[in-house]
Amino acid sequence: MMIKSVELVVTAFDKEQYPSDNLLQIAVVGRSNVGKSSFINAILNRRNYARVSSKPGKTRGINFYKINNMFYLVDLPGYGYAAVSKEMKKQWGLNIETYFKISDKLKYVLMLVDIRHLPTEDDIIMVNYLKNMEIPFTIIATKSDKLSKTAVQKSIREIAMEFKISPDIIVPFSSSKKQGVDEVLKIIKKNIKN
Ligand code: GDP
Repeated sequence: MMIKSVELVVTAFDKEQYPSDNLLQIAVVGRSNVGKSSFINAILNRRNYARVSSKPGKTRGINFYKINNMFYLVDLPGYGYAAVSKEMKKQWGLNIETYFKISDKLKYVLMLVDIRHLPTEDDIIMVNYLKNMEIPFTIIATKSDKLSKTAVQKSIREIAMEFKISPDIIVPFSSSKKQGVDEVLKIIKKNIKN
């Protein structure tokens, strides 16, 4: 799939602001600092579209990117940033949950984890939620350039065990090396067909 146009239609802080058209949606989710902005820039082939943050945990709204006037890539706020208050964490959780609950145009989720670490408790809650809601997803294991090839395979097996999923639905990804971009675009293409 060629990315011909990208338009940030809205950063929504409230469900009233979600786009109301009928385009299908693919959501991107993961804990803060996992490499989500870099991932989005890499797959959209834009240098600085999603803001790569030096200060993690800053973006809290939901970004709706309209791609090729064909579908939305939905950038959900990164969860689990340690240095925010309990109240803020709760609000984050609620924002994400509201989105999942009311978005009937959501087709697929790309869920990001750092390939160097085992999933956090929040990650496991997220994946269990997707399983329970029967929302199809792929796990993107980011920053794969930081590990050797053998270590990548080992990590994927371990992450799969922790999530209790098949390693086949985990894609190693590197934004800096552009590894995994084609595979992710293929997954998106397959899932935006009605
Ligand atoms: P976000 O908070 O999830 O949006 O994460 P960012 O995209 O802002 O990235 C967080 C940090 O990880 C930044 O310092 C990035 O440079 C770094 N990073 C992101 N993706 C990669 C990657 O593929 N490889 C490496 N080596 N570093 C990455």
